[in-house]
Amino acid sequence: MRWMKRVRRRIRIKLFPYVALGAINSHFAMESMMASSIWYFGPANAHALAAYSEQDVDNTSTISSNDYFGIPIRRSTSIAWHNSIMTTQMETAETDDPIDTTLTKATPWKPQIKYHYVFFQLYFHVAAIYGVYLALTSAKWQTNLFGYAMIWINSFGIYAGAHRLFSHRSYKATRALQIFLMLCHSTAYQRNLFLWVLEHRLHHKYSDTDGDPHNPSRGLFFSHIGWLCCKKHPEVVKRTKNIDMSDMYSNPVIMFQKKHQQWLLPTLAFILPTLIPMVFWVESLTNSWHINAARYIMSMNTVFLINSVSHKWGYKPYDKNIRPTESKIISMITFGEGFHNYHHIFPNDYRDAEFGNSLLNVTTYFIDFCAFLGLAYDLKIVPKDLVKSRMTRTGNGSEMELLDKTVY
Ligand SMILES: [Zn+2]
Ligand SMILES: [Zn+2]
Repeated sequence: MRWMKRVRRRIRIKLFPYVALGAINSHFAMESMMASSIWYFGPANAHALAAYSEQDVDNTSTISSNDYFGIPIRRSTSIAWHNSIMTTQMETAETDDPIDTTLTKATPWKPQIKYHYVFFQLYFHVAAIYGVYLALTSAKWQTNLFGYAMIWINSFGIYAGAHRLFSHRSYKATRALQIFLMLCHSTAYQRNLFLWVLEHRLHHKYSDTDGDPHNPSRGLFFSHIGWLCCKKHPEVVKRTKNIDMSDMYSNPVIMFQKKHQQWLLPTLAFILPTLIPMVFWVESLTNSWHINAARYIMSMNTVFLINSVSHKWGYKPYDKNIRPTESKIISMITFGEGFHNYHHIFPNDYRDAEFGNSLLNVTTYFIDFCAFLGLAYDLKIVPKDLVKSRMTRTGNGSEMELLDKTVY
């Protein structure tokens, strides 16, 4: 029977490129399916529903049952979707924290390497490669599916939680949704939310200069992962005090995660995702651990692509004078976060993109769905004419036609 196992393993290895391609296609199909089903059934289908809602507007926040699958939802939320009241049109494109352009791009600097972190990352990258091999050769299908589901969970924690909600306050969330997103974020093991937000706000305020923690002017590797492998640049440390973190200090969810990170993060990111396959479908420890390592490394690197690739290659419809770019491929991989030229100009737009209803922007659909359930509200969007005037003034001329066709 052992020879049979060996033959089966060989076949699976030979099939690797097809399986990998199939997995990527299934991922995009899954993203599109989820986005389109939410669009069809959910609140984002605002334009189609607008017709019957006009006289039916109710701005009160009373709870009443609605005939969406018989689920009781906030009436104001559901009706609001019909005519986009739920979203707040921002009057100016100004961000909470204006950009500081006084710093230089990249002064000569000798970074101090954090060797323990380098070894940590090296170990997990090798473990991740082994994890992919195990996923294709000996793991149970349930383990692979679970790893894939974990990518979705930690991605919503990072993109909808750490980024759009906590860093940019581009929408508001009920306490329940905040806790859910904090737990999802913990599974990504990207340190605590407080630090994540602080560094991201620094990145926006001092973008592409010495005050930017992952300063892209220092090269692709530094902006991708190199910045985490060395001690902070003195300018980053110095500028930290300029960032307003009062909302983070006053948020008990953020402070809870910060206080309990020593056990909370490893438990949710590594211990539980390893134990669940072992307990529920008797997966081996080796398979379970390494496939979760692959999940961790894959999702971490996709997030980092926004700091590196999205500041190097792509087109610039909104401001051709800054580094951040737009890329549809990056958007597909990062659940809709690749419209980075737009994002750096209008960081408080909850859609993180000009074409909020694009099928690539799964995170927007997730927030829309949360709004439909009454868990998210006050979703900020930048008015189309404001976007257009900025495009005319500083853009490179691309995408203008597409913007005209886009229904807001
Ligand atoms: Zn950026
Ligand atoms: Zn941002």
